[in-house]
Amino acid sequence: MPAAHVRGRVALLGDTAHAMTPNLGQGAGQAIEDAVVLGAVCAGGADGLPAALAAYDAQRRPRTQAVARASTTAGRFGQELHNRIAVGMRDIALRLTPGRVALRSMARYADWRPPAG
Ligand SMILES: Cc1cc2nc3c(=O)[nH]c(=O)nc-3n(C[C@H](O)[C@H](O)[C@H](O)COP(=O)(O)OP(=O)(O)OC[C@H]3O[C@@H](n4cnc5c(N)ncnc54)[C@H](O)[C@@H]3O)c2cc1C
Repeated sequence: MPAAHVRGRVALLGDTAHAMTPNLGQGAGQAIEDAVVLGAVCAGGADGLPAALAAYDAQRRPRTQAVARASTTAGRFGQELHNRIAVGMRDIALRLTPGRVALRSMARYADWRPPAG
């Protein structure tokens, strides 16, 4: 897994922590989720900061890296696909994919609940 988003009393969030390709439209969404989690874990004040930032890193890094990887993969079948036959097959497959299936595959990345409390 890539380097931690936290070192000492410094935490990275948004693109600076996990710049990603635009293929899933998730860059800003992930930055907002980071901010929500960072705010939640730091709500206790500065005393418990190292533990709070470690919790932030543990909660956010797996998800953001998974979304970044999925976005890269989506790009391989999007604008990075140049072979005309492959592009044609992709386009046919997309046209045949039911809307609800396409929506469900996107919802996987958009579906997120903020931490309780
Ligand atoms: C064309 C395009 C389309 C996109 N579409 C989507 C989409 O549909 N959905 C989605 O979720 N995401 C989308 N994104 C991604 C999204 O814009 C980014 O992931 C998001 O803006 C990252 O937020 P951020 O706060 O991390 O960084 P930024 O929005 O880049 O904010 C960083 C800020 O820091 C400032 N700054 C830099 N250096 C300094 C300094 N030294 N001192 C003070 N300030 C500084 C910058 O001026 C900037 O205002 C898109 C991006 C692009 C380029």
